[in-house]
Amino acid sequence: MMELGATLCSKTKPDCSQCPVSSHCQALALSHENPLVGVTDYPRVVPKAKPRRDFAAVCVVQIAQGLEQETAAGKCNFFLLIKRPEEGLLAGLWEFPSVLVDERKTDPLNRRKEMDRYLKQLVDIDVEQESNLILREDVGQHVHIFSHIRLTMHVELMVLKIKGDVGQACNKGQDSTKLKLVDESSIDSMGLTSGIRKVIAVQISGVSKFPEFVQNCK
Ligand code: SF4
Repeated sequence: MMELGATLCSKTKPDCSQCPVSSHCQALALSHENPLVGVTDYPRVVPKAKPRRDFAAVCVVQIAQGLEQETAAGKCNFFLLIKRPEEGLLAGLWEFPSVLVDERKTDPLNRRKEMDRYLKQLVDIDVEQESNLILREDVGQHVHIFSHIRLTMHVELMVLKIKGDVGQACNKGQDSTKLKLVDESSIDSMGLTSGIRKVIAVQISGVSKFPEFVQNCK
C-alpha cells in the first residue's frame, strides 16, 4: 500500500489507468458514478477539532531552610514537586504546584488566591504568614500544546523560609509519595511533565541565581 501511495496513487495526480487495484478502488468507483466527484476528493479530510484552551497558575515553590547558612553554602535550592494522579492526562508525572484557573480569572490576584488555597490544602503552607514569604513574583508565561489542549501556564516564583524540618513541614498529614522536595541537581532525574521541563529550562537557570538575590535583598 505504501509503495502504491509513493508511486501511482499520488495525492494530486493518481495514475488510475495503471493502477493494479483500480477494480477495488472505492474512490474511482464513486468518481465514475458522479462526474462532480474526483478520486482526489478521497480520503475525506476531517477538519481537526480546535484544541481546548486551558489556563493554569504554576508556582515554582522554593523552600529555604536556615537561609543565612544555606545560601552561603549554596544549598537552599529545594523545590516542591507534586505527583499527578495515576490516571488521566500526564498520569504519575511530577510537576510544580499547578492549578487550573478560569480564562476570565487569570489576573495575578486571582491566580495567587487560587494557588494559596491549593498550597494550604496540599502542604499546609500558609502563604499569608508574611514571616515565611521571602519572595513572590510573576516570572512569565509558557504555552504548552497537547494534541487536544493548548495550556497557557502563568508561572510565578515563590520563596518561602521554613523553620525546622522542611520535609516534615511539607508532609504534614500528606502522602509523602505524592510530594517531594528536591534540590536543583536532582530535578532532571524526576519524571517531569514536558510542560514543567519547559518552565525549568527557562526559569530554573534564573532561580539558581537566587541565593545571591536573597543575600542582596536582606
Ligand atoms: S484507482 Fe484508486 S488506488 Fe488506484 S491510483 Fe486511482 S485512486 Fe489510487
